[in-house]
Parts: sequence; structure tokens; C-alpha cells
Amino acid sequence: MKTIGIIGGMSWESTVTYYQVINETIREELGGLHSADILLYSIDFAPLAEMQERDDWDGAAQLMVDAARRLEAGGADFLLIGANTMHKAAPQVEKAVKIPLLHIAEATAEELKKDHIRKVGLLGTRYTLLQDFYTGKLKENGLQVILPEEVEEVNRIIYEELCVGVLNDSSKEKLLQYCRELKEKGAEAVILGCTELGLLLKQGDSELPFYDTTLIHARQAALRSLN
Ligand code: GLU
Repeated sequence: MKTIGIIGGMSWESTVTYYQVINETIREELGGLHSADILLYSIDFAPLAEMQERDDWDGAAQLMVDAARRLEAGGADFLLIGANTMHKAAPQVEKAVKIPLLHIAEATAEELKKDHIRKVGLLGTRYTLLQDFYTGKLKENGLQVILPEEVEEVNRIIYEELCVGVLNDSSKEKLLQYCRELKEKGAEAVILGCTELGLLLKQGDSELPFYDTTLIHARQAALRSLN
């Protein structure tokens, strides 16, 4: 079994899900007492979130590069960045280490393509939605991306509530309303493009299928560790 290196803590609320889903997938595949071979480097999220706010993307990328190097030195065979937003630093991380990175947007695009989805709504942080590093990857994969009107409110719910463990019914209702609006604009599915969104939104809450990036990324990582 290969060792999965995870850069986590962004926020740790979603790193818990990674740990659980990777191990559940290994148990499904191998049975018995099998569990995943994982190295987790979990960072302090507060300084990173401040760097994001003040547009210090070089500093933020350096945190990812340092974490990736530690995981490589520790023996990880491949890497996960356990957040969508910090895939902004994917190119720097890929340059800094020899082990491969399993990219969250590539993993998600692969699932959407399997299901023949072409037009997809996207929820995530303002950085994921408005900068090109993430939507660009989706577009390279032939997907048409539809954004919500309420980018700032989605961003607020992520940082002020989900990343600090607050699950609020009225925020859930707002996000489901944004999903309905995405559907009206032609979305065939919605990408939960922030690793905490699945804490609040579950398949079955919405008429549109959800592509939960945490679940997809974690599951693909577990399967890859077995190949
Ligand atoms: N976990 C979130 C994401 O998937 C947001 C927190 C962060 O900025 O990393 O984008």
C-alpha cells in the first residue's frame, strides 16, 4: 500500500472527513482490519487565512511547499492538498517535490466527465470562484462553470461558520437557494468546491447532484494508494 501524504488543517473540520473517508474506502476495498497508510501534516489555519485575506499568495504557497517537503521527507508516495483554495499553490508544490500531487479539481472533473455533465455550478471560497487557478482547470476539462451571484456570502459562511465548526440552518437554506439559482441558469450539477461544504450540504438536500470535492478527493486517494 502506498503512503498518502495529506496537507491538512485547512480547516481541520474537513481534514477529519478526509481521514474518515480514506480509511472507510480502504476498509471497503480490503476488508478486515485494513486501514490506510497516511502521513498528515496539519497546519495552523489562522496565519494562512490571514495571508489569503491580504493577498499574500507567495507566503501561502511557501507554507504549502514547506508542508509538502516535510511529507515527502517523511516517506509519502503522493500528496493531497486538503482544500480547494490552496490548490492555487499546486504549481509551486509540484515544482518543489518529486512525488506527485493528486489535484482536487482534476479528480472532480474526472467524476463529472464520467457522468457526462457539461455545465456545472460551483460553490467555494471567493478565491476559488473568482480566480482562474480552479475554474481554469475545470474549463480545461471541457466543463462550463456557472458561479453563484452571492460569492461574498458563500465565502462568509465558509470562513465564519464552517471552518469554525458552526452548522447553521439558515446558512444551509441560503446555500440551497443558490443551488436552485444555479439550476435555473442551466447547471446540471453543483461542485461543493470547498472541503467544508459537505458538513452542511448533503446529497438529497437538493434536486441537483452534488459533487463533494472532499469525498471525491479522499476516495480517489485511497484507491490510488492501492494501485
Ligand atoms: N477548505 C476550504 C477549501 O476547500 C477553504 C479554506 C481554505 O482557504 O483553505 O477551499
